Amino acid sequence: MNNRIIIIGGGIAGISAIKAIREVDSEIEIHMISNEKFYPYNRLRLTKGLFGNLSEEAILLQKREWYEANSVKLYINKEVTRIDVEEHEVILDDDSRLKFSKLLLASGAHNFTPPIEGIDKQNVYTIRHLEDAWVVKDIVLEKKKPLTIGGGIQGLETAWELNQHGAEVAIAEIQSRLMPMQLDIKASQILHSIIESYNIKVYLETQVHKILGENSVTGVSREDGLQISCDMVVYNAGVRPNIKYIKDTPINFNKGVIVNNKMETSVQDIYAAGDVAEFKSRISGLWNIAIEQGKLAGYNMIGMDKVYKDIVPVTTLNAFGISLFSMGNVDEGKCDYSLIEESSENKVYKRIFIHENKIAGAIVIGDTKKSPILKSAIENQILVDEFDLSKIFIESEIITRKE
Ligand SMILES: Cc1cc2nc3c(=O)[nH]c(=O)nc-3n(C[C@H](O)[C@H](O)[C@H](O)COP(=O)(O)OP(=O)(O)OC[C@H]3O[C@@H](n4cnc5c(N)ncnc54)[C@H](O)[C@@H]3O)c2cc1C
Repeated sequence: MNNRIIIIGGGIAGISAIKAIREVDSEIEIHMISNEKFYPYNRLRLTKGLFGNLSEEAILLQKREWYEANSVKLYINKEVTRIDVEEHEVILDDDSRLKFSKLLLASGAHNFTPPIEGIDKQNVYTIRHLEDAWVVKDIVLEKKKPLTIGGGIQGLETAWELNQHGAEVAIAEIQSRLMPMQLDIKASQILHSIIESYNIKVYLETQVHKILGENSVTGVSREDGLQISCDMVVYNAGVRPNIKYIKDTPINFNKGVIVNNKMETSVQDIYAAGDVAEFKSRISGLWNIAIEQGKLAGYNMIGMDKVYKDIVPVTTLNAFGISLFSMGNVDEGKCDYSLIEESSENKVYKRIFIHENKIAGAIVIGDTKKSPILKSAIENQILVDEFDLSKIFIESEIITRKE
């Protein structure tokens, strides 16, 4: 058998795998196949800097020369349509076949299209690829009343960028508060009121039922009849892994490709990492996890024996004039007690959640410069007695709340 690694997908999981492989092995052939027209780029920038410089060159994950310097053969604008597991081959959209000794599925995910009547109208968008961001940027020159569906991190970042570009923005969120997975009730309220202070209207418990308008958008409606006027919609309703090309293979999948803690799939020599992978019944959909899984798959594909340990998800938001950090267990029902500091004008809110005497989670709104200290404490399960609280809190202001 040849000695060639093929990586399907030019995202951060695939790039992280290459870096890990090249740390150890400079010889093995690496081929990366991407169905996008561009060199691999930083997807986070699409909403974090929508109106910044979004040229391909400005957001590349690696400089173009990096691929040659690392002996990586990069295929741009080529799609893997099938895998021949028996023959150890991938088949591309031009019917060419490439042999592999190890294969990494790093094909990521696509944005889920919610089943809303009228979602196929003109002026309804979603942002996953660079071109999507360009289209939204252009259309905002004409359309001034966007509505974002989904009050998660990407929806909020999009709303903020559009607001800063002079648009009259509204947000529709199905849940009863913003970012319920990452924030407690108080933090959600603070965020909500800060957002509304920018004249952005937030509609909670709002499941958009229909997008109104003949061809182009004139508004949306809820099942109870409430109508919200808008002239464009940007939806962000979660993701679904890109697994079409494995459907007629013996590779086990559920929502994503099922992997064990070595990032191995059910088929020998085939690995998966990042948004396409389902580990412990979960699709992470997160950048840091894609990096970690990609790295681990890279090491294991060249014969190392690394085990993936669940990493604690971190959320950061820099928008609406604030910084926000949330990490770990922020569910008061699952903690013994918490330590809180809050300012009366609601500009600062810090809360550390303690479980079994360890720092289990944290929320910070305001100055998040010290959040790496909290990140490390949560990752390393530091005992609260061993943690210097004065690094985070003004001690005289701490309130202890028993849960
Ligand atoms: C706008 C936006 C903002 C985000 N913000 C955050 C954030 O703040 N924090 C966070 O943690 N995460 C964020 N995410 C999620 C994060 O970007 C993903 O978790 C991460 O990109 C996953 O990396 P990946 O390499 O697994 O997949 P992807 O980045 O999806 O890359 C996979 C690549 O494979 C290609 N591909 C798919 N199928 C094939 C095929 N058959 N053949 C060849 N190529 C194929 C895809 O087109 C894509 O280029 C954001 C995502 C978006 C879209």
